[in-house]
Amino acid sequence: MQVTKAPRAFKEEPFTSAEQVGPEEAAALRVRARELLRAEDAVLVAHYYTEPEIQSLADETGGFISDSLEMARFGADHPASTLVVAGVRFMGETAKILTPHKRVLMLDLEATCSLDDGCPPDEFSAFCDAHPDRTVVVYANTSAAVKARADWVVTSSIAVDVVRHLHERGEKILWAPDKHLGDYVRRETGADMLCWEGSCIVHEEFKGVELERMRRQYPDARVLVHPESPRAVIEQADVVGSTTKLLAAVREMPERRFIVATDAGIFYKMREAAPDKELLEAPTAGRSATCVSCAHCPWMAMNGLRSLVRTLERGDNEIHVDPDVAAKARISLQRMMDFAKARARPVLGAGDA
Ligand code: SF4
Repeated sequence: MQVTKAPRAFKEEPFTSAEQVGPEEAAALRVRARELLRAEDAVLVAHYYTEPEIQSLADETGGFISDSLEMARFGADHPASTLVVAGVRFMGETAKILTPHKRVLMLDLEATCSLDDGCPPDEFSAFCDAHPDRTVVVYANTSAAVKARADWVVTSSIAVDVVRHLHERGEKILWAPDKHLGDYVRRETGADMLCWEGSCIVHEEFKGVELERMRRQYPDARVLVHPESPRAVIEQADVVGSTTKLLAAVREMPERRFIVATDAGIFYKMREAAPDKELLEAPTAGRSATCVSCAHCPWMAMNGLRSLVRTLERGDNEIHVDPDVAAKARISLQRMMDFAKARARPVLGAGDA
């Protein structure tokens, strides 16, 4: 599979880890990481948006690559006593909530998420208190404390189903934190939703006007969009969905060319899934002044080989979640998993979380 950058509207820098490790050092770090994973009885679980070198190492060492919830579920089922989570902080917390008896290490505790950061638990709790008549539904990209305050946690792939179910029961929704995903769910379900004003700094950069231009340039391409993107982008999509749904679309749709509006980390798995297809990165603000992300999450980029080895050598960056908070958050997570099981629906999502 070819990944093509269109000549206009794209940032020119290559998609690389923040660590900038050369090939010789990378090879040595990979050997060392393998040794340490074995010695520490640890397994590497990585998010789709992490660097290719981390995803490939997870593949090669019997680890796992997915969204946050599936990462946590894999970790819970795996016999290793230590989970090394390559992703952002809320993913480590979710793993700890679902696997409290295991040691959960992060490559960098400073790796966070604009959705999580933009929804502080105290402010969110006050927002919930001000609207006691609403059922609280939060996206997986939130802190353990916010999950603990919610009635439901959802991923991007099951959000529409859960909200539709609640709407059919006559419930009004308080949604957080992603306003674009909330707007998409509201349009899909017709539910009465009061939305928190959060956004993902990566997906928010995708631009509808630039995408229209690109579609004219590549009229044969199908457009795949993650629903954390703005409405003007979602409305042009052939497929809207979670990372897993977008991956499946590339693999299964007969078209040869796709424009993809989600974090560039997904291209590692898309290339693997359909090596003969051409992938185009959807346009962000590119060279304009507002672009801070250009379709790669700066916090995901903090997960590199050096930080992996350092974490395993020192055994630091351990995730701790207050047991009372974890117990409450587990209830809202479990509610989603039971709902998915009852409907035989996957909960695979972004974030994706
Ligand atoms: S890509 Fe967006 S939603 Fe995902 S971790 Fe980064 S800021 Fe958060």
